[in-house]
This record gives sequence, C-alpha cells and structure tokens, in this order.
Amino acid sequence: MCGIFAVSDSPNASELTHLGLFALQHRGQESAGIVSSHKGELLAHNGMGLVADVFSREVLEKLPGRAAIGHVRYSTTGASHLKNAQPLVFKTIHGPVAIAHNGNLTYALEMRDRLEKRGAIFQSSTDSEVIVHLLARNQGPLEDAVIESLRQLEGAYSLLFLTPTQIIAARDPYGFRPLILGQLGKSFVIASETSALNLVKAQPIREIEPGEMLVIEGNRMKQLKPFKAVPAPARCVFEQVYFARPDSDIFGRNVQAVRREFGRQLAREMEQVKADIVVPVPDSGVAAALGFSDQSKIPFEMGLVRSHYVSRTFIKPTQELRDLAAKLKLAPVIETLKDKRIILIDDSIVRGTTSRKITKSLRAAGARQIHMAVSSPPIVSPCYYGIDTPRAGELIANRNSLEEIRRFLEVDSLHYLSLEGMLKAAGGGDPSGFCTACFTKIYPTPIPDYQLPDPLKASGEAT
Ligand code: AMP
Repeated sequence: MCGIFAVSDSPNASELTHLGLFALQHRGQESAGIVSSHKGELLAHNGMGLVADVFSREVLEKLPGRAAIGHVRYSTTGASHLKNAQPLVFKTIHGPVAIAHNGNLTYALEMRDRLEKRGAIFQSSTDSEVIVHLLARNQGPLEDAVIESLRQLEGAYSLLFLTPTQIIAARDPYGFRPLILGQLGKSFVIASETSALNLVKAQPIREIEPGEMLVIEGNRMKQLKPFKAVPAPARCVFEQVYFARPDSDIFGRNVQAVRREFGRQLAREMEQVKADIVVPVPDSGVAAALGFSDQSKIPFEMGLVRSHYVSRTFIKPTQELRDLAAKLKLAPVIETLKDKRIILIDDSIVRGTTSRKITKSLRAAGARQIHMAVSSPPIVSPCYYGIDTPRAGELIANRNSLEEIRRFLEVDSLHYLSLEGMLKAAGGGDPSGFCTACFTKIYPTPIPDYQLPDPLKASGEAT
C-alpha cells in the first residue's frame, strides 16, 4: 500500500510535500520520495525507510520549485528495494515525467511481458512502471497519452504525474483507493487522505471521483471524465476498517466515527455476551472498542499498553525468548485484567498469529474469560488491489471454521462483525459502492487466473 501527495503553484512545494508524507506514513514505511519541478527540470530524491530518515534540511533545499509530488511505499508488487522507490522519474517523448501510484494493477505482469517483447526495458519491478512504458508509446500531448495509457489498465490506481508544467491526478473508475483534492490559498493540494491536507492547513474540497482525471497547470485546473463507466464504484472498505488514519475522512466519512459505529454494531450483534471490561488491541482496535463500550455500557479499559519504540524483533532463537519478545510491543496491565471477563477488540484477524499471542498474554495476566470480538467479517480471500494480505492459504479464516479459529486463539468465544453491519456503518446507512472481495471472494474486476486461489478458478466467482 502507499500514500501519495501533490502541491501546485507554491513557493514551498517540496516542504509541504515533506510534511504531507509524514501524515501519510501509516500507508507505507519502506521508502519515501519527493520530486519537484524547477525551471523545466524534475529534481528527485528518494530513499529506503521512513520520511524522517530519508529527508533532511539539506536534501529538501536541493528540491526547489513551485510544484512537487511525493510518495510513501509499502510494497505489494515488486521487492522492497531502492530502485522500486517512488516517485519514478523517466525521460519520455513528452519530456521528463514523474509518477506516484497507490493501488495494484491486476494485469501488470501480462502488460509488462507484452511491452518487453516489443523492446521495453524496465528499470524497476513495480507494476507502476508499466504505466510509464504505455505513456512513452502514446504520442501527442501528455494529457491524451495519459488517458490512452490508463484506458488499457485494469485494477486499482490513484495516480499523480508531475512534469515541468503540469500535475495530472487520476483515479480508476472503481475508485478502490482514496484521493482527495484540497486548496491552500491559490495552490491545489492532492493527497491520499485528509490527514495530510489538514496537516498543511489545506482546505479539503472534495474526493477526486472514481474515473476522474484532473489536469493542473499553476493555479488552473481542468476536470475530465475520460474512462468508461463501470456498474458501481468499489471503494475499499478495508481502508475504513484498518488502513486509513482515524483523523482522516475517507469516502466522505470520518474514519474514527465509522470505526466507533463498527464497535456499536458489534455490541448490538453480541448482546448475549456478558463481560466486566472491553479491552482494545492498541492502536487498531481502540475506536471500535470505544463504540462497543458506548453501546453495551461495559467499561472501556486500556488493558494492553503498546510500546511505540519497537520496530522489528530479531530475538528468535528459542521459544522462551520468542515469548518474551512478543510482549515487547504489547504489554498486559495485570492490575486491570486479573480475574476479569474481557471482551477483547481488534479490527481484523489476518493470519491469527498476533491475536493468539495477545490472548495468551491476557491469560497469563490472570484474565478469567476472553471473548474476542473483531470489528470486520472474516478475511477469506486475498486483495489484488493494493492491501497487503497474504495468500489465501495463510488467511486463517480461509481454511478454518469459526470454532477452529476460536480453539486456535484459545478464547472462550469468538465473534466477527456481520458483512451487512460493517457495510451499513461504512456507508452511513448506504451499504452500496464498496469492494468487499477480501470478505466475500467477489472481485469487482477480472483477476488473472494464475493468481486466484484454487476454489475460485473457473468458478466464475471472480468477476
Ligand atoms: P494477524 O492476524 O496475526 O495476521 O494480525 C492481525 C493484526 O494485523 C490486526 O491487529 C490488524 O490490525 C493488523 N493488520 C490487518 N491488516 C494488515 C495489513 N494489511 N498489514 C499489516 N497489518 C495488518
């Protein structure tokens, strides 16, 4: 997954982009990059790691110019490697072009193969580079070349292009990934999430619509709808469940408010369960646990404390040390948990390994009963549109029944939010227009057969 950001017509374009990327850091931590346009040239800097590690004052000073785009990356296609860090910059028949992409193209491998057979030489292993090669093959003004290129693509893209004179923003016709337009004085600002617009004090104007393209030159903007219409948008509901930041408004609704409503709905669906306290898995379960507590009147307690200073744990030689390492990130508050009946809330279970470690540590802290409540339905199928979910076989709910998962997690009961309950809350009462493929195996676009898990191949479910 990734986060993208752009500013037009500002004397502080790369500084604002730098700040914007901080507010999108949760969308990708592997690499960060900024490209600015200055006196007919594109100036770029990117590197591996967090925004704070990649950029210094000296580096930013080498990125002058009145327009810039930026990117933070979490790899879903292509290895975690500097040559895959974005924005990618290329010299084309249209002049220099930089591109920043959030989403996954579904037929990128086939496209890449076809282009390579016709002589294209790829510099990275990302799906995003396919777009550049298509661009390079389309003559005429860049704007028309972008339209022609994007018409050949399938899958998820929220995209930003930067040239010495223009910023072009585009969102795929299904609108899988968010992309928001804002204004700061005369400047246009575009970001994956409003968290980034708010940070730089840009006023959010509206979402860039599914299938829409904006062409920005200085402080002028042209709006186009050049792509074929699709039956319905397919906005990723997992953005609301887990991915986006709680202070952002995504798909027109505040993420924290939606997550609280997930929690309230979960409480309505679990009325029969009696407990003493509601405990979130921090940070991902906090908003839903607050909503659950509001609705059920069961007190909310921070029974787990998260350390923000642990990145990766390499201590893994023995089981005993592994168990100790598990507690580095999340520590149980024994005083709060001892002898209590607990409703433990997290936003999702993917492989199940995190939840299992947590429930074990709650038991060790003296919890009397643990009722695990998840504020989304079981994840049964991989995402091909940009969320990093593992293969079908690694998803615990793909191959196990509710009772099997409950036993694996060693909890007294296990509950998931219903699909209907989640969609109603995510849409503010209107459940339509979301992609739910990871929960339902129903993909809104075709997926290459070789990528699909076995039971879906040729079953026609993936349409
Ligand atoms: P596990 O079930 O052990 O795979 O981990 C589930 C935890 O990972 C939950 O706390 C989620 O908040 C979090 N999570 C869900 N989706 C993702 C994702 N795509 N990348 C990283 N963490 C995730």
